[in-house]
Amino acid sequence: MTDVLIVGGGPVGLMTALGLAQQGVSVRLLEAEDGVVYSPRAISYAWTILPGLELLGVLDDLIAAGHPIDDRCWRIFKTGETIVYNHDAVRNITDRPYNLTLGQDVLAKVVLQHIQRYPNVTIDWSTKFIGLTQTTDKVVIRAEKAGTPVEYDARWVVGADGGRSAVRKAIGLTMDGFTWPQRFVVTNIYYDFEKYGWSSGYLVDPVYGAVVYKITLDGLWRFTFAEQTTQPLETVGNRIRSFIKATLPGDQHYELVLHTAYNMHQRSAATYRVGRVVLAGDAAHITNPTSGFGLMGGLYDSFVLSEALASVVDGRTGDQVLDRYSEQRLKIYHEVTSPISSESLRLVFNSTDEARLERDLSVLRARKHDPEAMRKFLSAPAGLETPSLISGQTLVQRVKEKRL
Ligand SMILES: Cc1cc2nc3c(=O)[nH]c(=O)nc-3n(C[C@H](O)[C@H](O)[C@H](O)COP(=O)(O)OP(=O)(O)OC[C@H]3O[C@@H](n4cnc5c(N)ncnc54)[C@H](O)[C@@H]3O)c2cc1C
Repeated sequence: MTDVLIVGGGPVGLMTALGLAQQGVSVRLLEAEDGVVYSPRAISYAWTILPGLELLGVLDDLIAAGHPIDDRCWRIFKTGETIVYNHDAVRNITDRPYNLTLGQDVLAKVVLQHIQRYPNVTIDWSTKFIGLTQTTDKVVIRAEKAGTPVEYDARWVVGADGGRSAVRKAIGLTMDGFTWPQRFVVTNIYYDFEKYGWSSGYLVDPVYGAVVYKITLDGLWRFTFAEQTTQPLETVGNRIRSFIKATLPGDQHYELVLHTAYNMHQRSAATYRVGRVVLAGDAAHITNPTSGFGLMGGLYDSFVLSEALASVVDGRTGDQVLDRYSEQRLKIYHEVTSPISSESLRLVFNSTDEARLERDLSVLRARKHDPEAMRKFLSAPAGLETPSLISGQTLVQRVKEKRL
């Protein structure tokens, strides 16, 4: 019988599989699609998460596949004012003071290459999870492999099958919270923003707010704006053209490579564990991506979960540690991930109150002259981390030990 069956071969499922594999756990991963899915979603990972990727041995390959971004800019659409931050305030506490940029599909492919070195992991592509039944000592999982029903036995199941998680539904959980009245319209475009002094960051405006981010060094950028969900999706192409026309800083020659739209949510399951089934990543909690905290939250889940679950599997730790996983990850979602992401969305896309916007901008401006406040601000994503549930160590402490 497999020790752990993971449903979902997205970045969180694959990262969890790698973490478990490295600790000798037998893993089976089911993925509905026939390979890693391309999805124009996550591209940016804060410097605070890089120690977790180093511990798993994937960081060098991820850095080689992506590129670092030092600057983040808030550009005020109405006035043209720009406030640009860099990572100077954390240069003395990390040797990697930058955000790593790479598409989440590229990240997933790098992790997959590492997984393939471990004979204790089996990946079933084109295999869709359908349902499960739990008993006291195992879980029976029903799936469909290329249309044919199949069944697997496992000691434990990790649901990493994304926001519409069938695993979460199978264990009777709903996603509690709310859906924003705005959707994100995501475009990938070739345009020379840098020629006009733009760097990755935000365009702040209640109408023309956007997340603007350089995806690749050959000049592909992510230009994401928000619109009311009451607008018909069929005509989004026209609105993209007018939005780009109104916001591009210089000449109007751009190449639109793709576009898609996402509804945005602040939602979480009420628990991330039911018996022998645990949830991670978007299957457990989902946030609007203005701060780039969605996948980062999921990766932090996977770091702490793979260590705890491996310890349960080999009998070193009682399974109560999985309740602590659930409690602590829930607390972080509600106290850090969701409030910070919601505040970012409000500032970038919903700053209708001029006086409040001016106060927000004063804080952004003042921080540039206050290294301690800047260090705190740049370190906010570290608040997404749960230290090891086995040793109590943080990722930074574990990396230091590993490097000795
Ligand atoms: C526009 C946008 C921008 C974003 N930018 C960022 C960012 O910069 N930084 C960041 O940290 N986050 C960002 N996010 C969030 C990030 O994309 C998600 O948090 C991330 O994809 C979650 O990963 P996951 O592995 O949990 O789920 P997914 O990536 O959704 O993967 C789930 C996998 O499960 C598979 N699956 C689903 N159902 C089944 C089934 N029944 N059986 C088998 N397999 C199944 C799917 O095919 C998929 O491969 C962004 C999101 C959006 C929408």
